[in-house]
Amino acid sequence: MGTSRNYTELSYVWESWRTRVSRKIRPFYLQYMSLINKHARLNNYTDAGDLMRKKYETDTFEQDMLALYEELDPLYRLVHAYVRKKLRQVYGDQVIPPRGPLPACVLGDMWGRFWTNLYPELVPYPEQPDIDVTQTMQDGGYNVTHMFKLGEEFFTSMGLKPLPETFWNLSMLERPEGRSVQCHATAWDFYDSKDFRIRMCSEVNFENLETVHHELGHIQYFMQYAHLPLTYRDGANDGFHEAIGELMSMSMSTPKHLAEIGLLQEVPESKELSINFLMRTALKSVTTLPFHLVNDLWRWRLFRGEYDTDEANEEFWKLKEQYLGVVAPVSRTKDDLDAVSIFHIATGYDMIRYFTRTVLQFQFFETLCRAANHQGPLHTCDFYGSKEAGDLLARMLSLGSSQPWQDVLQVMTGERRMTARPLLDYFRPLKEWLEEDNARGGDGVGWGDSWKQTPGTSRAPRAATPFSLWAIPLMALMWRP
Ligand SMILES: [Zn+2]
Repeated sequence: MGTSRNYTELSYVWESWRTRVSRKIRPFYLQYMSLINKHARLNNYTDAGDLMRKKYETDTFEQDMLALYEELDPLYRLVHAYVRKKLRQVYGDQVIPPRGPLPACVLGDMWGRFWTNLYPELVPYPEQPDIDVTQTMQDGGYNVTHMFKLGEEFFTSMGLKPLPETFWNLSMLERPEGRSVQCHATAWDFYDSKDFRIRMCSEVNFENLETVHHELGHIQYFMQYAHLPLTYRDGANDGFHEAIGELMSMSMSTPKHLAEIGLLQEVPESKELSINFLMRTALKSVTTLPFHLVNDLWRWRLFRGEYDTDEANEEFWKLKEQYLGVVAPVSRTKDDLDAVSIFHIATGYDMIRYFTRTVLQFQFFETLCRAANHQGPLHTCDFYGSKEAGDLLARMLSLGSSQPWQDVLQVMTGERRMTARPLLDYFRPLKEWLEEDNARGGDGVGWGDSWKQTPGTSRAPRAATPFSLWAIPLMALMWRP
C-alpha cells in the first residue's frame, strides 16, 4: 500500500483485506459492542462512548472536539486539494476527479491514516536535498541499536532520564527469527518502577527512526511518573501520552537537526526546503486529524444507537466523505464493517487520543521552543540540548495523572484548554504556499457540494465533474503509534 501506484492492485488489496479481516470480525464486534454498552450502563454511563469520553473529564468533550476541528478543517482542505491535484497526475481524472473525493486505497497505507508514503509524489520542490534520510542512514551503516541510542541521546541531551539496562536486555527491538510475533510497535510499563520495554520490529529507515522517538516518548513518561502511586501512573490524558514522542520527533526531523547529526548535508535555510519539510510533517499530522476524529465519532454514534448495525458501514462512509473527502474505492455491502479493519478499533482502543495528541503536541512544541529561547519561525525550532525545555517537560511528565489534565497543561503551557492556534502558527508558511499554489493552477478546495474555488484564482471555473456516491481495557498497559 505504501509503494504501489497501480490502482487495480491497490483497490484489489484494499478490498481483500476488508473481506478477509473486517467482514469476519463484524459479528464479534457487534456482540462486543452490546457487551461494552451493557458494561458502561451498569456503571451509570449512558453508553460505551460516554465512558470513553469521560476519560477526559469534560462534559462537553464531543462538542469541544468538533469545534476544535472546525478551526483545523480549512488547513486540511488545502492539503487535500494539493494531494488530489498531484495524485490526479499519477492516476488520471477517471480515478480522481478534479473536484471529487479521494479513493481510500491511494493514500499510502491500508487505512489512509498516515499519508507520509505519498511524499515522493507530493514533494513541492524535488530538487532540494531529500529530508527523508533513509538512504543516508542505510549507506551510513546504521543499525537498530544506533537508532535507539540516537533517540535516547535526544532525551538525555535535555537532561531527561536515560534508559535502564533492563530496557536493552528485555525489549524486543527487532523481528525475531523463527517465530511469529505481533509487530505493531508498542511501549510497555511493567509497573514495578524499573522495567520498561519496547516491542517493535524495527527496520533501518527514517520513518522507523521517528517511530523509535514516538515509543521512547512513552517510555520517558513511564520513567518520569514511576514514583507515583499506581493509579496516577498514566498520562494526564491519553493525548498527552501520545504527544511526547511526536514532539521529540518533530524537533529531531528538522533539516537543521538532521544536518547536525550528519544525516543531511549542511544547507542554508530556504523557503523551498521549509515547504518540503512542512508538507512532509503535514502528511503525518494535519491529514490524520479528521481520520482519527471520524473513527471515534462513528463509534460514539453507533454506541448511542443513532443508527442500526445494518446501516453502520454506510454511516461510516458518510462521515469519511463529509470530513475527509475520502470514499471507498469499491462498492460496499451490509456485510462489511470497514471501520474494524484497523488494529485500534478491532481491539477496542479509542482513537480520539491521536486527535488530541496532534493538537497538544504543537502546544507543547511551542512552549518548549520558547523555553529553549528559539528565534525564528516555529517550524525551524530544535530544542535538542536545552535543559530549560527538558526541565519544563519533566515537570509535566512527573505529575502523571495525579492532577486534572487542564492543571497539568497549565503547568506546562500556561493555558487550560486544547487550542489549535500553535498548530496553525506552525503551518502558516505551508498554508500560504498552498493557497498560492491552488490559485495558480489548482482545482479549487473541497469536494462535491463543499467545493470552492480558491480566493484569488484567475482561472474560469471548470464545469463540475460528477462523482458517484455510494473491550475497553481496564488498564492502559501498552501504548502504540
Ligand atoms: Zn503511541
